[in-house]
Amino acid sequence: MNTELELLMPGGSLDKIRYAIAYGADAVYAGVPRYSLRARENEFFDPELIKEAVDFVHARGKKIYLTCNIYAHNNKINGFMDAMADMVALKPDAFIMTDPGLIALTKEKFPEAVIHLSTQANNTNWAQVKFWKDYGIERAILARELRIEEIREIHEQVPDIELEAFVHGSICMAYSGRCLLSNYLSYRDANQGTCSHSCRWGFKVNGNAAQGDDVRTEYVPLEGEFLLEERERPGEMMPVDEDEYGTYIMNSKDLCGIDYIKDLRDAGVVSFKVEGRNKTEYYASLVARAYRRGLDELQAKDSISDETRDWMLAEVSTTANRGFIPGFYPRNAKAAAQELERSHCVQTHLYAGRVVGFDSETQLACIEVKNRLDKGDKLSFITPKQEFEIELDEFYYDEALTKPTDHAHGGGKNIYLKLAMDLGEDFASTIIRMPYKEAQTLRKRTVVAA
Ligand code: SF4
Repeated sequence: MNTELELLMPGGSLDKIRYAIAYGADAVYAGVPRYSLRARENEFFDPELIKEAVDFVHARGKKIYLTCNIYAHNNKINGFMDAMADMVALKPDAFIMTDPGLIALTKEKFPEAVIHLSTQANNTNWAQVKFWKDYGIERAILARELRIEEIREIHEQVPDIELEAFVHGSICMAYSGRCLLSNYLSYRDANQGTCSHSCRWGFKVNGNAAQGDDVRTEYVPLEGEFLLEERERPGEMMPVDEDEYGTYIMNSKDLCGIDYIKDLRDAGVVSFKVEGRNKTEYYASLVARAYRRGLDELQAKDSISDETRDWMLAEVSTTANRGFIPGFYPRNAKAAAQELERSHCVQTHLYAGRVVGFDSETQLACIEVKNRLDKGDKLSFITPKQEFEIELDEFYYDEALTKPTDHAHGGGKNIYLKLAMDLGEDFASTIIRMPYKEAQTLRKRTVVAA
């Protein structure tokens, strides 16, 4: 049983795994194609890529867990077991599973496979955790709806099973993802790995006969106050509002457990998990480095200083988020958990780009641009070992430095610029960020969410 504290980062692609490990992850989790809850946005359709990921992580002395946590229908069972044969042969450190039937079949056919019980199994009480521990499960990934006191009791009652808890990232408005909303609205079943995140959709009101339009092609502010009243609850008014971006009626804020890391550790949690396999390498890098510093300080000093706590919060706030809550850890957040005005992008900084080539002799960097860059922008270069700022001055579209430009667009051509610093071997993990520009609104759709 592992008792070392572990920072567990999402591994949505080989590239993201590379960044997460470079910035301090002890372990990553990646989805088995078709059988994880990120079935659509999953690079690992090619088993060779999963093998590469397993070998890459193990070569660095870290761990990798493969997620296969769907609730299967009958017609998926045979295919699942065939896929498991291939995955077990790769020797990942564990499989993250939910479905009791699939767990039973896996244990019968592959007794050597280590299984972690997914949060999808709704691990909300010690009796359930004990049941699964007695069945041979090595780790329970706790339901995100638990208070710290409940986690402590689970640990006291079942001390000899590893506990893993989410500390950061998006959360569902449904019970740990056991939700049919996406299926209801877009015929994509979250429990089969194809959630369309319908809870975060922005809706706009159409058919506003009072304003003379059946379908509004442009935003026209709604006049007056609109209130929903449920038939059986007369007098309990729920205001609905809409701005030019629509209305978000079920959008949960994101989890940020920075203030509860020590309490979680004291309650028995050993693995601190970050959500976000679909998010960028910028997110993977900066969230990993924030929590790495916090966990290191906790282990060294048995506490996290206010200075480190503030730095961590500032760091994670540079990545895309919907506003933060500490989940259910202190208590049910109730209305504070909802972000009804916007979908996301309240981050303080933007993902400017990443270094994809560097010549140590000439100190010429090749940069893949992620969001629009303009001459004069203040860029922060972040590597696993250092951080420095530059003002963007001369930059070019070509390596020969014959095609100067004053701006470059995200998703367009790479740019080249000379740096005063040597990035050394860290160049391939270098992330570049910049503060939001005044001209950009926080909700602008063209911004690459980080
Ligand atoms: S629709 Fe929202 S609440 Fe439902 S599973 Fe998807 S992300 Fe979670």
